[in-house]
Amino acid sequence: MKLVYCWIEHPVLQINKPFTYYTDDEVDVETGVRVIVNFNHKEVVGFVDRVEHTEKTMEEVEAELQTPLKKIERVLDEESLITKELYDLALWLSKQTLSTVISCFQAMLPAKVKPVSHQHHIIKQRWVELSSQPVNLTLKQLELFEYIKANLPMTYTQLRQKSAHLATKLIELGAVKLVEKEKVATSTIQEPSSHFLPLTKEQQEVIQTFETSNDQVFLLKGVTGSGKTEVYLNLANQALKRNEQVLILVPEIALTPQMIARVQDRFGTEIAIFHSGLNAQEKYEQYRKVKNRIARIVVGTRSAVFLPFHNLGLIVMDEEHDLSYKQDSQPTYHCRDVVLFRANYHHCKVLLASATPSFESYARAQKNVYHLLTLEQRINRQKPTIHVVSMKEALQNGVSSIFSNLLLQKMQQRLKAHEQIILLLNRRGYHSVYRCRSCKEPLMCPHCDMVLSYHRDIQQLMCHTCGYVQPVPKQCPSCHSQDGFTSFGYGTQRVEEEIQHFFPTARLLRMDHDTTSKKNMHQTILQKFSNQEADILIGTQMVAKGLDFPNVTLVGILDGDQGLRHLDYRSSELTFDLLTQASGRSGRSQKKGEVVIQVFDPTLDAIRYSASQNFDAFYHMEMQYRHIGMYPPFSYFISIMIRHKNENEVFKTAFWLKENLKGDFQVLGPSILPRIKDYYRSRILLQGKNLDLMRQSIQNLLEEDHYHHAAMLLFDVNPLVLE
Ligand code: ADP
Ligand code: ZN
Ligand code: ZN
Repeated sequence: MKLVYCWIEHPVLQINKPFTYYTDDEVDVETGVRVIVNFNHKEVVGFVDRVEHTEKTMEEVEAELQTPLKKIERVLDEESLITKELYDLALWLSKQTLSTVISCFQAMLPAKVKPVSHQHHIIKQRWVELSSQPVNLTLKQLELFEYIKANLPMTYTQLRQKSAHLATKLIELGAVKLVEKEKVATSTIQEPSSHFLPLTKEQQEVIQTFETSNDQVFLLKGVTGSGKTEVYLNLANQALKRNEQVLILVPEIALTPQMIARVQDRFGTEIAIFHSGLNAQEKYEQYRKVKNRIARIVVGTRSAVFLPFHNLGLIVMDEEHDLSYKQDSQPTYHCRDVVLFRANYHHCKVLLASATPSFESYARAQKNVYHLLTLEQRINRQKPTIHVVSMKEALQNGVSSIFSNLLLQKMQQRLKAHEQIILLLNRRGYHSVYRCRSCKEPLMCPHCDMVLSYHRDIQQLMCHTCGYVQPVPKQCPSCHSQDGFTSFGYGTQRVEEEIQHFFPTARLLRMDHDTTSKKNMHQTILQKFSNQEADILIGTQMVAKGLDFPNVTLVGILDGDQGLRHLDYRSSELTFDLLTQASGRSGRSQKKGEVVIQVFDPTLDAIRYSASQNFDAFYHMEMQYRHIGMYPPFSYFISIMIRHKNENEVFKTAFWLKENLKGDFQVLGPSILPRIKDYYRSRILLQGKNLDLMRQSIQNLLEEDHYHHAAMLLFDVNPLVLE
């Protein structure tokens, strides 16, 4: 008999070890296939960790396990869904992120084949095959037969489009056979339509150093518009020539269309695309394309890092500082860490790139852990001019609260000159707060400790944290007064409306969470803007990053210091990044660009340094503060979030953690976090120099506790935001 060890997801017990089942020797089952097993009197899907042949009897094994041994009910997959590398990766990731192994497999596999998904329907297609036996055919039939021969592979649907009647006939005669195969992604191979640009001296040097150095991990710090993407394409070309696969990661889906277009224009090869906008079938098809060695270049967001590559020759991580690279649910992994794991396995080189590298990466580059490469010059050799406007002063002078005169005036000029404008406001909706006229209490989400924002398009109040919507109530829920509400603040919807009011003939596009929820909307909006079918693109942080529009010569940033109102040690860095990235969208081609940043307090460091476009000065100053507070990268944090619908449970568990976690590190908190989706939340923070030791202490405690509290806890090793 065979013993089969399976990972099983249990909603309550977060036990992190495989369960043992058995099966007959004849049954085909291996690591990485899904099986149906009986668990607590229910049929569940298990994911096979390993299979062992045993000569022992059933009784002997049961005696050892001290529990009855159950048989596997069914095997779901014919072959392993993963590779040896991905298996090792899941186990490693589980340790790194303090997550269950099963959650790591879940994160790695596309929905159709997720370890707990019961056979999702995998779409099959019928394909045409020709008989090798001679068959007597009429002239017309022979014509179609020859046509098929010349155009294989062909689906039955394609054949019927040619001639449904003749197709049926050919099948009857046995000249054509149909075979069912899994639907595969349509080919993306296109003739290259652009060629490699002659490189600047800086670009050449970067490429040469990358290619000739023996180092493995490189950090490319290149100002916005310095031609970093061109560098990626050249390096990718080298890897393709060596017959290796290439992975290009971008932080969010809004950046995929431009990157895909640039990659596709340059290479006549098969590309796989992987991001959250694909449906389950599409993801599965792309997954298979990589697993079957068909795709040679992959462009994708965070989860693309888990695709089953065979011979990676290069990994590029564009905008490596971006927060979207971190997953905020279990397993809370950082894509960069997985990149480094995979690069080690494949012995391939890694290019981390950004105009504003994360402090962690930049500090590593300073210590030569990463090889630092730089591009100091924009391709067009001109930096945009940046104006900072104090809205406090403007307000005192009686100016509208949203737009300064300077911004309106500059917009007017650009519209006249038929140049394009990007407006960034990192807040969606119409009004951001509704307050009772009588008691002044803001309207809150009933499920979260968050204010509701008004969305004019749907005429509803919306919670941006959980998505809950409701109409504006007749009565104040706090004091029951019926005096109504006053609205405050503004989001992208209101900006759009007011801009239209100021510039009635201007053509506007808005890109935020609300306008991009439908499939392919990112691409549609960006394509329109790129075709100059609009003059002004208004949006949240989605419009701030990575995009390349040569005709944009003005970027306006509204409420540029809103991020600094958070009390997070990292908020200064994040604000600097956002402002610098957004400014970088202006004046990228021949025409010189300008930026207007509107803030309440222009004296703040992040504002001053991003206005002077001096990353290094900002970094050195900010690192001094970090050093004094011993914040990362001078120490490590592990955040333990405690969540429960019962507030008391949260407190009890928080203090239990505080009392029992002991070691060469500090235990900070518990701090109270806002309630979200009816879950009360609190946080304990471990701060120390030795991450392994901190992890080990947590592991030990969970084991001692028999994972009793584990389901309430969300661990985040190296958290990026502490809210
Ligand atoms: P980054 O990724 O650093 O922001 P991009 O790679 O998008 O910069 O380059 C900015 C612009 O300059 C793009 O429009 C790109 O096509 C162009 N560009 C890049 N390298 C060259 C080059 N060597 N010669 C001419 N144009 C270039
Ligand atoms: Zn009230
Ligand atoms: Zn809510």
